[in-house]
Amino acid sequence: MPEHTTDVWPAFVATLPLDLGLPETSTPADSGATSRRQPSLLLVDDDPFMLGMQSRMLRSMGYTMIGTAASAQAALMLLGAGRAAVDVVICDLNMPDVDGLEFLRRLGESDFRGNVILLSGEGPRIIHAVQKLLTARPLLILGALEKPAGHTALRMMLDRWQPMVPPTAVAPKPTYSPADLQAAQQTAQWVLHYQPKVDLRTGALMGMEALVRWNHPEHGLVYPDHFIGLAEDCGAIGPLTDWVIQAALTQLALWHHAGLHIHMAVNVSMDNLLEPNFARKVGALVRHSRLSPQDLMLEVTESRMMAMSSVPLETLVRLRMQRFGLSIDDFGTGHSSLAQLRDVPFTELKIDRGFVHGARENQLIRPMLEGSIGIAQRLGLQAVAEGVETEDDWSLLREIGCDIAQGYFIGRPMPSEGLRAWLADWMLKRSRLIAL
Ligand code: C2E
Ligand code: CA
Ligand code: CA
Repeated sequence: MPEHTTDVWPAFVATLPLDLGLPETSTPADSGATSRRQPSLLLVDDDPFMLGMQSRMLRSMGYTMIGTAASAQAALMLLGAGRAAVDVVICDLNMPDVDGLEFLRRLGESDFRGNVILLSGEGPRIIHAVQKLLTARPLLILGALEKPAGHTALRMMLDRWQPMVPPTAVAPKPTYSPADLQAAQQTAQWVLHYQPKVDLRTGALMGMEALVRWNHPEHGLVYPDHFIGLAEDCGAIGPLTDWVIQAALTQLALWHHAGLHIHMAVNVSMDNLLEPNFARKVGALVRHSRLSPQDLMLEVTESRMMAMSSVPLETLVRLRMQRFGLSIDDFGTGHSSLAQLRDVPFTELKIDRGFVHGARENQLIRPMLEGSIGIAQRLGLQAVAEGVETEDDWSLLREIGCDIAQGYFIGRPMPSEGLRAWLADWMLKRSRLIAL
């Protein structure tokens, strides 16, 4: 019903400057926000009653720049015409003809760079799927609300809005060639950082995960996501993993020598497991460092586990027969699946951070986290949660009986020299957390 829209729109357009320079002073009457300008809003809903009601509510909350559109087409026309600088689109999902999903897809393809709030009567699973769809688009989603949205919920969501900062020129990401990796290997440009893994009941430090970085002569510290895939594709992962294991074991031997009896976790790719000699080689490295296999946890990253053929399975079984720890990394994503868990003699189940952070409030991921921990317990595996970012994440994991936690809340990956200072800080934080 575009007619309805055109009735309301002039009032909206009239209140809006035609460029992005909206007045600094117009903050919502009772929001308490004084330093921020007020966002301009566009409500999109095919139900005229709902449109009127929500728009009156927003006005009563002190927002003055409110436009309405009674269909997705009308909203796209208005936004596409570039006549109005809209900061936040508040959008219904269920609309006839062009529905909310198509509207948001087309909005993402347009040059609109504002924020979106979803209003919907749909349950949390559909809302979650829509949010996932939106993260693949250049639209920033402030959140989703049940329809009709109340004052407080709407205010909370709109308070998350931040004025757009004009994009600054971003240097293109450097890309690397197999020759670059070879040079890095030959001139020892790899470094390891270590991230703590702590016992959730006692807070004790149980182990460290070694995470490789590339100390690039021009680009500084380059993170593994930028080169591990290439290393796997071009065959450089073999020598890289050998270096990582050797360096991590040398460091672990030093920590043991200093009286810190923890384990070391390293990441291994599927390609490493294809090497027929891998298990024997790792066994020899451990013996050479005067450590025992139980001191080393091999985290199997699943990105390429795919159909487990007999060669990697043989390597994994041989490693386990030598008493190395085996962890199924990123459990719950990709191919890190129940089938892998059934077929490989893992000793640790490491739950992907996508099921950990924010689980207390999330009705969708919380049961998956609890279920994964239950599976680990019933199979006699150590349950490890990665991506523990907040005290809420930490306390939930304690409540549901997870064994080990890792994440920014406990400690970020650090160079080996950082361990002493981290331990001192953690001792203080830990005593408060364990007393709770
Ligand atoms: P991963 O094995 O899942 O390692 C955890 C990653 O999550 C690390 O990123 C770590 O810095 C990050 N992280 C830790 N705590 C948190 C948290 O609380 N929140 C969030 N959002 N992130 C957290 P990093 O170091 O960039 O490593 C990325 C991935 O690269 C690793 O994921 C692993 O799959 C791979 N990788 C790292 N080192 C090696 C290696 O030596 N060999 C192989 N094959 N892969 C490696
Ligand atoms: Ca890992
Ligand atoms: Ca992970």
